[in-house]
Amino acid sequence: MKIDAKLKSQTPAFSFEFFPPKNEEGMRTLFDTVAELKELDPTYVSVTYGAGGSTRRLTVELVERIQRETGIDAMAHLTCVGATREEIGGVLSDLKNAGIQNVLALRGDPPKGQEKFERTEGGFGYANELAQFIRDSHDFCIGGACYPEMHPEAASSDADMDALKRKVDAGASVLITQLFFDPNVYLHFVERCRAAGIDVPIIAGIMPVTNIGQVKRFTAMCGASIPGPLLQRLEQTNGEQGEIRKVGVEHAILQCQKLLEAGAPGLHFYTLNRSKATREILQSLR
Ligand code: FAD
Repeated sequence: MKIDAKLKSQTPAFSFEFFPPKNEEGMRTLFDTVAELKELDPTYVSVTYGAGGSTRRLTVELVERIQRETGIDAMAHLTCVGATREEIGGVLSDLKNAGIQNVLALRGDPPKGQEKFERTEGGFGYANELAQFIRDSHDFCIGGACYPEMHPEAASSDADMDALKRKVDAGASVLITQLFFDPNVYLHFVERCRAAGIDVPIIAGIMPVTNIGQVKRFTAMCGASIPGPLLQRLEQTNGEQGEIRKVGVEHAILQCQKLLEAGAPGLHFYTLNRSKATREILQSLR
């Protein structure tokens, strides 16, 4: 089923994001995780698209397999990186033939070693162009990414908002945010989106902290900030792994509670292919 249709009657939505593993062992871990998280009855799950389109085949195979084996609606991420419109059209046809109805239309990051994103000849330069292409050529529910703390390459937050409006006007009917840790950042962003005439559901992207180095790396890359008090609590753990997890999960529970109380239509968990932290958070919310 299409996610935008589901969100009309099933809110708040809970969803989980996975990435295509690199080897057999990773694949086993992923499917164990999927089985454990299925018990939480997610609204949908999504599978990322590797940098440079490197997981094109695997992403299609995984969304198909997860949806077929578990009955959970799956969303395929799709980027413009290194692909012509014909190649992207081919991926969309594969997804359609596999029974997938949901696509997250992304521009993607520049491939390793390349500083700036460059449009492939015959391809797309921005996510709104991809969304338009999908809408014109296929019948998918189209999702889009959004950035409560601004996309790092945007000239300004107003310019980023204009780009987001173009993406929604081009067909994105559901938005999923980049990770963030302060609920007020999300609430302020949603207010700005509504003022800009963006009226589609904005699902909050949640990443429970389980590793300090990793979260610092991710936030530095994507332009998200770690609130001072959270960072302080994490640093007071002196690197003790169990304590870091505890602080991260406690913070995520409070964050999710506030978001749901304020009316967020859904929570999208960046699971990193592990289930434990996400299960603890959802069990506590329910
Ligand atoms: P766009 O919406 O195209 O925006 C990119 C930049 O260009 C922004 O700064 C924007 O302000 C600007 N811009 C947009 N349109 C225009 C325009 N017409 N003119 C001028 N400027 C414009 N990456 C992956 O490789 N694989 C994944 O699976 C993946 N999944 C993700 C899932 C989520 C929920 C999120 C939030 C991000 C994900 N990403 C993924 C990362 C994403 O690819 C990067 O953040 C990328 O840099 C931007 O993609 P976008 O679709 O937001 O781009």
